[in-house]
Amino acid sequence: AKRIVIKIGTSSLLYQDTSKLNLRSIERLAFVLSDLKNQGKEVVLVSSGAIGVGMGRLGLSKRPDTIPAQQAVASVGQGELLGIYEREFQHYGKSVAQMLLTRDVLVYPQSKKNVFNAFQELLKMNVIPIVNENDTVSVDELDHKTKFGDNDQLSAIVANLIDADLLIMLSDIDGFYSGNPLSNPSAELYHTITNIDGSIIQAAGGVGTKFGTGGMVTKLKAAKRILKNHQKMILANGKNPRIIYNILAGDPVGTLFE
Ligand code: ADP
Repeated sequence: AKRIVIKIGTSSLLYQDTSKLNLRSIERLAFVLSDLKNQGKEVVLVSSGAIGVGMGRLGLSKRPDTIPAQQAVASVGQGELLGIYEREFQHYGKSVAQMLLTRDVLVYPQSKKNVFNAFQELLKMNVIPIVNENDTVSVDELDHKTKFGDNDQLSAIVANLIDADLLIMLSDIDGFYSGNPLSNPSAELYHTITNIDGSIIQAAGGVGTKFGTGGMVTKLKAAKRILKNHQKMILANGKNPRIIYNILAGDPVGTLFE
C-alpha cells in the first residue's frame, strides 16, 4: 500500500474518563506516520477529537447539549488539536496541513475537484493532510445537506476521493466482533469481512463511547462505501499506533474489509 488514509477516533486520542489528551498515543502516531513518510508512503490523517479536546480545554465535563455550543467547543478544540499535531510532526521534520471538509465535496463536482487537487498537491509537497469535518459549517448530524455524518464515513469518502490503497481505522477495540464485547464477553473477532449482510449489521449494535459518536454502525457504513469501490479497510486497535506496522506487514491484526 502506497497511499494510506488513517482515521483515528476520539477514544484513541483522549482518556475517556477525564477527556485529557493521551499524549503517548498522539506522539506515537506522529512517529509512525512520519516514519511511513520516510519509507515513501503517502499518508493522510483523518482525526476526530475536536469536541473532546475543546471540552478538556474549556473544563467541561459533558458534551454540550446544543448544536451551537458543540460548534463553539469544536472550534476551540480543532485549533488546539492541530497545534498539537503541528508540534508532534515537526519533531520528525514533517509538515502538516489542516483540511476542513463539508459534504460539498460529494454534492458539487467542482468542490470535489478542488479538494482532490488540493490533496494531490499536498501529497506531492510531502505534506501530511490532517482532515476533519468543518463543524462550523456542517450544522446538524441529521442535516444531510451539509454533514457527512461522522469521521468514519468522512475517512471512507476521502479514501475514495484520492483512490487510497488502504484505509486504516484506529479505534479502542481490536476489530469487529460478533457482538459488542463490552456487553457480550463471548463475542468473537472477525478477521475478514467481505460482505456486510444482516448478521453483521446486527452485531454492530448501538453507539459507542462517551466522546466518540460513531460506534460500529458508522464504521460499517464506511466499510460499505470502501467495499463498493473495491478498496480495502482495516479496523484495528489504536491504543498503540505501532500496530500500523503490523497492518502493513500483513500480520493478522484487526478486521480486514475487502
Ligand atoms: P471511536 O471513537 O474510535 O470511533 P467508538 O467508541 O465510536 O470508537 O466505537 C468503538 C466501540 O464500539 C467499541 O469500544 C465497542 O464498545 C463498540 N462496539 C459495539 N459493537 C461492536 C462490535 N460488534 N465489535 C466491536 N466493537 C463494538
